[in-house]
Amino acid sequence: MEMFVVIDFRRDRLCRCYSAAFGDAEEALHPINYKEKNWMNEQYSGGCYTSTYGPGVLTQLGKELRKPFGRLYFAGTETATHWAGYMEGAIQAGERAAREVCLDNSGQGGGYEGESLYPNGYP
Ligand SMILES: Cc1cc2nc3c(=O)[nH]c(=O)nc-3n(C[C@H](O)[C@H](O)[C@H](O)COP(=O)(O)OP(=O)(O)OC[C@H]3O[C@@H](n4cnc5c(N)ncnc54)[C@H](O)[C@@H]3O)c2cc1C
Repeated sequence: MEMFVVIDFRRDRLCRCYSAAFGDAEEALHPINYKEKNWMNEQYSGGCYTSTYGPGVLTQLGKELRKPFGRLYFAGTETATHWAGYMEGAIQAGERAAREVCLDNSGQGGGYEGESLYPNGYP
């Protein structure tokens, strides 16, 4: 019972925010459906905006997340060097992975190590 009171409270607060954002829109105060999701309960990511890692995982193993493996290339915001977990990171990682694929014209993978792409070592 208590749980529903909390959800109702959050829904009402949220609706009021939307209503205000759209010029006191009455319609926003009466949603036809409302769902909540607890991202911490996600089995694989364990949270959001991005996966929740333990201490030291990113600093020690972060590079491994984005290193190509043969002909497998990894994109996704988790592999970004800036703004990991956000849209900016997703774009950066996507562009990086695309560059790696484009540079790999061997068909065997490993083209990412081309000097022109990472003159200072893998990021
Ligand atoms: C609740 C929430 C709020 C957020 N708010 C913000 C915000 O305000 N600002 C912000 O910048 N970021 C926010 N983010 C983060 C942002 O949404 C992500 O960083 C971004 O969407 C990641 O983009 P991506 O391309 O890496 O991955 P995704 O957007 O997750 O794309 C991966 C895609 O791959 C698909 N896929 C998975 N497996 C397979 C498969 N086997 N075959 C084919 N397709 C597959 C999935 O369906 C998905 O469409 C939020 C995230 C969450 C969860």
